[in-house]
Amino acid sequence: MPKTKQTLSPPERKDDRTISAGQVTITEEPPKPVVPLPAPEEGSATPPQKTISLRGPIAVKELAGLLEIKPFQLIHHLMEMNIFPTLTQLLDEEVARKVSGRMGFEVQTERKERHGPPPPAPKVVEEPSPALEVKPELQPRFPIVAFLGHVDHGKTTLLDAIRHTRVAAGEAGGITQHIGAYTINRGGKSITFIDTPGHEAFTAMRARGASVTDLVVLVVAADDGAMPQTMEAIDHARAAEVPILVAINKIDTPGANPLRVKTQLQERGLVPEEFGGDTIFCEVSALKGKGIDHLLEMILLQAEVLELRAPFHGPAVGRVIEAQMETGRGPTATVLVQKGILHTGDIAVCGPYWGRIRALINDLGKTVREAMPSTPVKVLGLSGLPSPGEELVVDFDERKARQTAEEQLAALKRPRQEEGPKITLENLFSAIAEGQRKTLHLILKADTQGSIEALIGQLQKIPSNKVELSIIHSAAGPVTESDILLAKASEGIVIGFNVKTDSSAAAAAKREGVQIKLFSIIYELVDQVRDAMAGLLEPELRETVLGMALVKKVFELNKFSVAGVLVQSGRMVRKGQARVLRGKQPIYDGSIQTLKRFQDEVPEVRAGLECGMRLGNFDDYEPNDTIQCYQLERVPQSL
Ligand code: GDP
Repeated sequence: MPKTKQTLSPPERKDDRTISAGQVTITEEPPKPVVPLPAPEEGSATPPQKTISLRGPIAVKELAGLLEIKPFQLIHHLMEMNIFPTLTQLLDEEVARKVSGRMGFEVQTERKERHGPPPPAPKVVEEPSPALEVKPELQPRFPIVAFLGHVDHGKTTLLDAIRHTRVAAGEAGGITQHIGAYTINRGGKSITFIDTPGHEAFTAMRARGASVTDLVVLVVAADDGAMPQTMEAIDHARAAEVPILVAINKIDTPGANPLRVKTQLQERGLVPEEFGGDTIFCEVSALKGKGIDHLLEMILLQAEVLELRAPFHGPAVGRVIEAQMETGRGPTATVLVQKGILHTGDIAVCGPYWGRIRALINDLGKTVREAMPSTPVKVLGLSGLPSPGEELVVDFDERKARQTAEEQLAALKRPRQEEGPKITLENLFSAIAEGQRKTLHLILKADTQGSIEALIGQLQKIPSNKVELSIIHSAAGPVTESDILLAKASEGIVIGFNVKTDSSAAAAAKREGVQIKLFSIIYELVDQVRDAMAGLLEPELRETVLGMALVKKVFELNKFSVAGVLVQSGRMVRKGQARVLRGKQPIYDGSIQTLKRFQDEVPEVRAGLECGMRLGNFDDYEPNDTIQCYQLERVPQSL
């Protein structure tokens, strides 16, 4: 069987490779079935070292299981042996023996019987082992990485240093243009970096429903150590359930103390491998370009463990990370492709805008014809400027695309009803009853670290048989906009104890629909959270629709307008609430001011009858609007 070398870059990467000692060779043979390996026998006489049994090549992931270590730790050891495998690659016995030996394991090879009749031919195992099983439509994609950390710890400098590895690597036209993200290639493997560092941007995207980051690199300056925003960044990354890799930067400075950083972060649950944990720490100097290669290797290693995949077929879907108006180009939007392949000429809808993609420009400023998943690309041809976080979806039906965008644009132009917070302490229990959630996510801000600790101690004592409590972020200081965005992204509530709310946070809370509860007495705070978790807070208001009416004609009177309606179902009740719907979209909600049959004000009008109606101070009725009359009832909460 001839052996061919291939570049291991997605999407062509195959999992049916075998690595042999000393070199990376790729065979084109189909994967050998991986036979389940017996675990070392318990209770047998203690061998001089632990023993594992192998029968033929074994996948990295499975060998790690036998050696009782994490796959990336095994890959780490293999890299030290100059072998750079992927998680699902098969290692031959020789390599497996060598690497196991390094960890004090003896490898026993299960051989065929020498005596007796030849064994029956081995059955071909049709099903791949679960470790190698991959949904056929999904293909490997490369990681998307964001840099988080305290201000001035060197995130921007590090992003620049990595960007320059392109030039150093001699990549043609290797100078990156600023489009909001860039991709580098290293030994056939790629990584995309998001160019706006900091957890505010990271969480703002999440609050818009856009989770694009696969891996967070937490940058901590070795001379400054973990600072408040370092801790905040950890909580933001954790709330997003994105793995964290630590880059200890500025190791060139005289005051550098990487050990102190490791000890500080260990207290926050980021335990370095050398302390027995599984967080990767890299020591770098962004300024001097030291340790960058190792950092990139570790990012790739961590990404390997994540087994990132995406469909490369079907209409492309991506997320806008940046958008701007450019002279001569019109609206441009940088999109990170998440699914499918985006092509020039595709018709795309992006929130309230749409268009046929006129050109795609990559992070080197070059025009490209297509963009794969995990690739950032600037899109030209949209009818307007979308917001960051907006989803871009390819739709092959031009008429439908235009209609979808126009409907969204029209909805944006309508006067918006002010909506209250979606999740509150008061409605928590009913939200649970409706099956939306089982956990109360809290962001806790207090005047001092001492108060925080006391509060957490008290809150953790609340029995949680129906609702779990998760404090996703706690810190001393006022409620900030970043807290609000975190609450929005995690559907949580912000609780403040003896603290103020920043003015930008108050505005953000209103805009994003996030509840802030401020307390100054500790037991009131704890009691309210306990009651909310037990469903004992104020009964909730529930809405019952009483009837629907169709606007037939609009009468413009001197000072206001009245809608002439036909009640189509149920009844219109003078004391009820009502809303005006245009299409399916509510455009006004308020109390009924006028309900008239001919000249008389009446308490209610039943289906089949016509009447005149006026709601609150609304004056903008149009024929064919629907008026929905409803009443709010207080209902006790129960599961
Ligand atoms: P950011 O706020 O986290 O993006 O930090 P910057 O990248 O703007 O860096 C803040 C300051 O630290 C700048 O003056 C950088 O030149 C400096 N800096 C960044 N990395 C290093 C480093 O590795 N060593 C030293 N000595 N200074 C650094």
